[in-house]
Amino acid sequence: MNEKIKYTPQGFSYIDITIFDCLSWGGLGICDGCGKPHKELKLIYVLHDTYCNKCFDTWLKRSAKYSKEDIEYDLEIQKENHIQWYKYHGVI
Ligand SMILES: [Zn+2]
Repeated sequence: MNEKIKYTPQGFSYIDITIFDCLSWGGLGICDGCGKPHKELKLIYVLHDTYCNKCFDTWLKRSAKYSKEDIEYDLEIQKENHIQWYKYHGVI
């Protein structure tokens, strides 16, 4: 278990990151939801995206409506790959 990894109520993992983390892998700190730059963002494995806090909240509400089967499927893949993905981005 890595203490930097947090989980949504559905079990999707994410990590709080800053624009400096984004810059380190060549990102620009742009939210993939609203397309605007932010200083604080969240890196979300299951989406392979970076979201600002506002878009993250919107996604949380949206993901609450995902079917149980879809969530189980996503979580199975997440379990196998997310640590490596976060490591690749240098955030854990
Ligand atoms: Zn956004």
